[in-house]
Amino acid sequence: MSNPHSSASVRRRRAATTASSRVSRRGTEHYDVVIVGAGAAGLMCAAEAGKRGRRVVVLDHADRVAKKILISGGGRCNFTNWSATPDDYQSQNRFFCISALTQYTPHDFIDLVEKYRIPYHEKKLGQLFCNGSSQDIVQMLMSECETAGVIVRLRCEVTAINQNTGQNKRFLITTDQGTVASTSLVMATGGPSIPQMGATRFSHQVAEQFGLKVAPARPGLVPFTFKGSDLGFCQRLAGLSIPCVAAVNEANFEENLLFTHKGISGPAILQVSSYWKHGQAITLDLLPGFDIIAHLKEQQAFKSKVELTTILSSFLPRNFVRAICVMPMGGEPFNNQPISRLQANGMDYIGGRLKSWTIMPSGTEGYRKAEVAVGGVDTVGLSSKTMEALEVQGLFFIGEAVDVTGPLGGYNFQWAWASGFCAGQYA
Ligand SMILES: Cc1cc2nc3c(=O)[nH]c(=O)nc-3n(C[C@H](O)[C@H](O)[C@H](O)COP(=O)(O)OP(=O)(O)OC[C@H]3O[C@@H](n4cnc5c(N)ncnc54)[C@H](O)[C@@H]3O)c2cc1C
Repeated sequence: MSNPHSSASVRRRRAATTASSRVSRRGTEHYDVVIVGAGAAGLMCAAEAGKRGRRVVVLDHADRVAKKILISGGGRCNFTNWSATPDDYQSQNRFFCISALTQYTPHDFIDLVEKYRIPYHEKKLGQLFCNGSSQDIVQMLMSECETAGVIVRLRCEVTAINQNTGQNKRFLITTDQGTVASTSLVMATGGPSIPQMGATRFSHQVAEQFGLKVAPARPGLVPFTFKGSDLGFCQRLAGLSIPCVAAVNEANFEENLLFTHKGISGPAILQVSSYWKHGQAITLDLLPGFDIIAHLKEQQAFKSKVELTTILSSFLPRNFVRAICVMPMGGEPFNNQPISRLQANGMDYIGGRLKSWTIMPSGTEGYRKAEVAVGGVDTVGLSSKTMEALEVQGLFFIGEAVDVTGPLGGYNFQWAWASGFCAGQYA
C-alpha cells in the first residue's frame, strides 16, 4: 500500500483537487492559501504550505519571481549568516523574532542549499554566498514550490482584498486576472526599498485595512548624503575606502567606510544607517584600536622633523591625510608642518578628525538605494510562532513587510526564510 503522506501521494491528491474544484461557477478560483509576493519569504512559505497538502497560489505583479534575490550579494546572494541570532535584529519588540529564528535556523537553510548541491563559500563574518549566481537560490525555491504543487502567477495586479463576513470568513482577492478566494492569506510583498524594481508598501496598507498597526518605515542599509563643505570633502575623496568604527546611538560597527560623490557609504556606514534618524550626528573612529595622539606626542618628544602628513600616511591613505591636513586650523593650514611644530590645538584637531570625527548627514540616498526598510507591520498584532494576525484569523504577514530588520550580511534573507517557514506550517 502506498504511503498516503508521501510526496507522490500528496501530488496525486492535490492534482485531482486542483482540477475539480479550483474554479467555481461564478468564476472565482478557490485555494487554501493565497500568498501575495513571490519573493524570498513568499516562495519559502508557499513551498512549506504546499508540502502540507494545501492548495497554494502565489500572486506577484512583477514579470519574474524574486528579483531582490537575483540582485542580492552582487549577484551571488548572501543567503544566510552562520552566526545569525535573534539579538542581531532590530524591532520595536526585540523578542518577537526569537521563535521563528529558532524554528528555522541558518543550518536548516544551509541543509536545503546542500540538498540542491549549490556550491557556496563563507566570505567573511559568517556571510555565506553562492559560488555561482543568485539564480541558483531562486531555482531551488522554485523547484521546492513545483514539487509541492504551488501555482505562481506573475504580472498579476491585486486591486482589492476583502474578507467575507459571517460564517464563511474567506478572503477575496480581486486581481486584474480575476478573483481568488482562500481561507488563508499571506502578505509577503516585502518593504518599500528599491521601488524602481516594483517594491511597494502593499503589505503595510493591507495590515492597516485589517486594523493592525504599522511601525513607521524608513530606509535602512543606505548611504548617507551631505551638503556644503562636508559634501565637498567627500567628493574630493570619492572612491576611497578606509576601515573605521562608525557609531550612532547605541549601535557601532567596525568595517569599511567608502567616500562617494554624494557622501559616505561602505559596510560600516550602511550598518549604522539602520539606527540613524534625521538630525542625528554619526561618529567615526578612523584608526580603531590605535591611540594616534599618544603616537604623535611620542614623535614630538623626539623633536622629530618628520612632517605630520608623512607620519599619518603610514596609517591612512595619503589622499585622505592630505585632505584633512589642508583643512584650516585657526586660518593656517598645517599640511607640511614638521611634527615638532604642531601646536596643542592642531593635535586636538587631528585627534578629533581621526578618532571621533562627528559628522551630520543631511539625509540618506533613500529607498532608491536602501537594501531594506526598517519598520513595518507592528509585531504587537502578530503571533511570533505562526506570523498570523492575532485578531484576524487566516491573515499572515512575513518577511521584510514585518517590523524585523537585520544588519548587512545574510541576516535579512534568514528572517525571510524563517518567517516564511513558520507561516507555511500554519497557513
Ligand atoms: C540591492 C539589494 C541587495 C540585497 N542583498 C542582500 C543579501 O545579500 N543578503 C540578505 O540577507 N539580504 C539582502 N537584501 C535584502 C533582501 O533582499 C530582503 O530583505 C528580502 O528580499 C526580503 O524578502 P521578502 O520576501 O520579504 O521581500 P521581497 O524579496 O522583496 O519580495 C517581495 C515580492 O513582492 C512583490 N510585490 C511587491 N508589491 C506587490 C504588490 N503590490 N502586488 C503584488 N506583488 C507585489 C515583489 O515583486 C516581490 O517579488 C538585499 C536587498 C537589496 C535591495
